[in-house]
Amino acid sequence: MYKITLIPGDGVGPEITEATRRCIEATGVEIDWEILDAGENVIEKYKTPLPKHVLESIKKNKIALKGPITTPVGKGFRSVNVALRKELNLYACLRPYKSYRGVRSKYENVDIVVVRENTEDLYAGIEFKKDSKEARELINVIKKLKAAEIREDSGISIKPISESASRRIVKFAFEYALKNKRKKVTCVHKANIMKYSDGLFLDTAREVAKEYEGRIAFEDRIVDNMAMQLVQKPEIYDVLVLPNLYGDIISDLCAGLVGGLGVAPGANIGDRAAVFEATHGSAPKYKGMNKVNPCGMILSSVLMLRHIGEDSAAKKLEDAVASVIAEGKSVTYDLKPTPNDPTAVGTKEMADAIVKKIK
Ligand code: NAD
Repeated sequence: MYKITLIPGDGVGPEITEATRRCIEATGVEIDWEILDAGENVIEKYKTPLPKHVLESIKKNKIALKGPITTPVGKGFRSVNVALRKELNLYACLRPYKSYRGVRSKYENVDIVVVRENTEDLYAGIEFKKDSKEARELINVIKKLKAAEIREDSGISIKPISESASRRIVKFAFEYALKNKRKKVTCVHKANIMKYSDGLFLDTAREVAKEYEGRIAFEDRIVDNMAMQLVQKPEIYDVLVLPNLYGDIISDLCAGLVGGLGVAPGANIGDRAAVFEATHGSAPKYKGMNKVNPCGMILSSVLMLRHIGEDSAAKKLEDAVASVIAEGKSVTYDLKPTPNDPTAVGTKEMADAIVKKIK
């Protein structure tokens, strides 16, 4: 019996969470769920969208399955998703993008895993506002140190890339490749221009790759070339490892290759905890309508099952999802030829069909 924290989230979160829980239970894996709320709905009660007891539960159980949580614009609370990553040091964002027969896409046979660094790079949030005292000071310091001219009317974002975080994420990518019988890791960067940040990422990746020589192949690609190659021949790529910003952009490109958000799973993983969640958000306009596709979250739970070593249950569940999608009958609106197709089923009914297929 596993003890796992379950955060249903808001918007369509509770519906897809319920669908996912039923699918996992149908595999026979026994889980004692610790169900806890986070997000806007709990602010009044706990004065924060991410109450301490939710964090403590994940720290204790080490595994969480999470529905999407809305980040209200301009209400001054930090995204729960970003806060979770920071508080639990979930440094690796893992996103597999796989073609499923029955999902409309221009491509077939895509099977790419994106491993994105989650803690630094331009995403570290170190920014200086145009005309601020700090921006002016920084511009002067840089002028002194580098004899480099930055226009007075500039806003500035800082891009830190460390050797330690680079080593940690590249090692994660190789270990994932080994454990999941993948063949190749491609390091994506712009080291030809950003020699001291992306250059460090690439040099570190090359060093780490030596430890896996003969077991996992290694190559690197400049990020712009990578974007073109993914569009031209995605089938030749396997595991990609990228710094934070490129990881963000290339992830969406890959989601596009396999037919969009509805079937895109994800995980944020650290050394002490892992949180599994779909790539998509809370789709508030569909809240309570039993309408959206539960597969992003169900496939995230497949990643979770593999993470805890339940490989055969993971395979059963993924095969069941693939089979329901391939049949194209009991699927939600987004997997039908047109969004208004009257034969589309709801979230619950699609989960019913998946449960029925699990043997
Ligand atoms: P979204 O992914 O919620 O929705 C965008 C559109 O994609 C929807 O309107 C819908 O048409 C479609 N869609 C999304 N999920 C679907 C599904 N499962 N099945 C079928 N169609 C689906 O993106 P958004 O509108 O930009 O964000 C809404 C809220 O979610 C925001 O507050 C955002 O901050 C939050 N968000 C949360 C997470 C998270 O919790 N990890 C991730 C992304 C966005």
